Amino acid sequence: MTPDLKPMDLNPAAMHPADSNFPAPASVDLKSMEIEELQALMREKNLPAFRAKQLFEWIHARRVRSYEEMTNLPAALRGELARDYPLPVAELADRQISRVDGTRKYLFRMPDGCLVESVFMRYRFGNSVCVSSQVGCRMGCRFCASTLRGLTRSLAPSEMLEQVYAISGETGERVSHVVVMGMGEPLDNYENLVRFLRLLTCPEGMNLSQRNVTVSTCGIAPNIYRLAGEGLHVTLALSLHAATDEQRRKIMPVAERWPIAELMKACEAYYRQTGRQITFEYSLIRGVNDSREDARGLAGLALPLRAHINLIPVNPVRERGFAHPDSGHIAAFKKELENHGVNVSIRRALGKDIDGACGQLRSRYTSGAGN
Ligand code: SAH
Repeated sequence: MTPDLKPMDLNPAAMHPADSNFPAPASVDLKSMEIEELQALMREKNLPAFRAKQLFEWIHARRVRSYEEMTNLPAALRGELARDYPLPVAELADRQISRVDGTRKYLFRMPDGCLVESVFMRYRFGNSVCVSSQVGCRMGCRFCASTLRGLTRSLAPSEMLEQVYAISGETGERVSHVVVMGMGEPLDNYENLVRFLRLLTCPEGMNLSQRNVTVSTCGIAPNIYRLAGEGLHVTLALSLHAATDEQRRKIMPVAERWPIAELMKACEAYYRQTGRQITFEYSLIRGVNDSREDARGLAGLALPLRAHINLIPVNPVRERGFAHPDSGHIAAFKKELENHGVNVSIRRALGKDIDGACGQLRSRYTSGAGN
């Protein structure tokens, strides 16, 4: 197990991209491979190319959990694959089901013992899974439980897919939307994130619509530009949480490195290149970022980009001591934004009776360092 890394190193060289903290996989991970890569592997083994497509479909479209179930592959090949390329599967460690709205919170154990949280939510538009991109996080946002003990490691593409596959199998329901808003900073695990997005939306696999996928970032500007150039049409959500740099720096260490002006430029480039409307996430914290002036500043940032604003009453985390404003105050904040012509919604708090905030379920299971 890699030891927890220190809080984010603000040295620019260290920030770009930080995939180095992903440990070398113990074996070749077929579940993280694209079809062409599987084809190359089959060629190496002197096997016909169509075996690659069969394998890919078993893994990503039918989502079986073992080679044994891949009944159109010769038994000898199944045995060889099982020996040489163990399939990473997420084991269910715990599950909480909300009695209020059916939201399900999952804790998965990865093959090396790391614990990862994911959430299943039902909306009018379909079912959504919230995926973690890292075990822990090194971004240090003051209000967030995921970052309390730093980063243990980044997740492989297969481990992000597993969260979606395992939940779709366990619920027996179609998953139509995925949000990368669980533990971790997805743009701090860039290569693995992009591979995950390609596999998740691949027509021969789960075939999720790219438009139904959202990646949420605390604002690693260079990687917003990179993502804009990937040819993926996923929604980008920027965790803004403050309208001025001074205020943002008090709650988000990452703001020391990339000022809001730079993030707005990166979001503009993203919008221009992908045609996808940007979302700003704004966690309302009582007495910190909930004044009328804050709302005006936020409107000033959203309007030129035509960004949508998602207000999230901050979810209190025991170790943090922040509180959310009362509902009347939240409504007034929303009204102020609307008066400026901004498109805004208040995130419906789902699963209020279960460990709601990011990292909370996991933190009940882990104490001290480790997974
Ligand atoms: N690292 C990514 C994804 C993390 S969590 C990011 O920063 O965007 C998804 C969203 O939940 C982010 O906007 C994050 O700032 C917010 N969040 C984290 N802890 C929260 C809390 N206690 N209450 C409300 N929102 C929170």
